Amino acid sequence: MTATIVRSRLEREIGDLHHVHDTSIVTTCYLDVDGGHRPRRADYLQAFKVLAQSARESAEVEEPVVRTALDGTVAMLGRWLEEQFERSRTRGLVMLACSRDSWFRAIELPVRIEDQIVFGHGPHLLQLELLLARAPRFGVALVDHEKMRLFEYHLGELFEHPAQFEGPAPHRDRQRAWNVSSSPSGTGDAAARWAPAGTHVDRREVALAERHLARCAAALASHLDAHPIDHLVLGGPTPERERLEGDLPDRYRSRVVGRVGVRVGAPIDEIQTAVAAIALEVEKRADDAMLSDLATASGEGVAILGLRPVLAALSEGRVKMLLISTELQSRPGALCTSCRALSVPEAICAFCGAPTTPVDDIVEAAVERATHGGSCRFVRGEYLDVAAGGAAAIVRD
Ligand SMILES: [Zn+2]
Repeated sequence: MTATIVRSRLEREIGDLHHVHDTSIVTTCYLDVDGGHRPRRADYLQAFKVLAQSARESAEVEEPVVRTALDGTVAMLGRWLEEQFERSRTRGLVMLACSRDSWFRAIELPVRIEDQIVFGHGPHLLQLELLLARAPRFGVALVDHEKMRLFEYHLGELFEHPAQFEGPAPHRDRQRAWNVSSSPSGTGDAAARWAPAGTHVDRREVALAERHLARCAAALASHLDAHPIDHLVLGGPTPERERLEGDLPDRYRSRVVGRVGVRVGAPIDEIQTAVAAIALEVEKRADDAMLSDLATASGEGVAILGLRPVLAALSEGRVKMLLISTELQSRPGALCTSCRALSVPEAICAFCGAPTTPVDDIVEAAVERATHGGSCRFVRGEYLDVAAGGAAAIVRD
């Protein structure tokens, strides 16, 4: 619920930025300030210097007025980064500036982004929008013998769903967790088997706890039906957590990506830290999988390199995953008025021979097209071979 608020805060921010269009030059700088990746302050300051240098080099071909504007804004961003920025929990930083009217915006993101600097007549929001669309949602359920709490984790923030699930609380006075086995009980004597030697166990209490966990699993499943997630994290004392996992329907059990040992009553910061560690692993696994997919696809001949052939494959609806280098700048292109094929600037469509209409930013159009039938992501320049010319695609066989 609260997640929607955060999402819309970012979305609102992006919406506002879309209206920033004027004749002056806007510089958009994406900087990876992730502490895991760039532990020292000097590391991201150095990364910014590299970006600034590459911006200056690419500006050399532009008109003098663009060069001057760019020099001014890059200096301003550098100063702000050095004197004002405090990293804290920020992992990705987007800075937007226009030197002429000293307009400046900084967006601090709880997720990692790829270094990129772009200048043009308006903010360059493609990476930010894609990130928003792609950021996985994690459902989090903490359960013990008497209670269940539900959370949602998205874009680095954890929010609690207000509904709480209270069980019959048969063991309120007990210090340790309820001793329920993860294996389903086949016989009525299960209660006696679970009990540590010498402990008196009330079977009625065992049955109550079992029923409580079965009810929690059902409540969790219907909650997730109403609040779709990509991944699920379970927590609480091991026996109850395992029992809950066992009681979940397959469609949600298969989404469990991690288990955390935090108490159900733990403060939200503690839960957030534990879930963030799992989200980081999931993110890393997804990155590794993407790179290995690209390598495999290249080996099998189902990878396409270069903007022109990638646009052709997109137009044929063959692209499974589009990879865009952060070094690929916006550029004009063309859209066929008849078959909607995308291409580099061309008067006549190569597919059907119909006339085309110009497109301001073919990279943006390609990303939009790719996210319909497949997926799309930004990758650091060094991941894409020079031969790829800033764009690659994994296509369907
Ligand atoms: Zn056409």
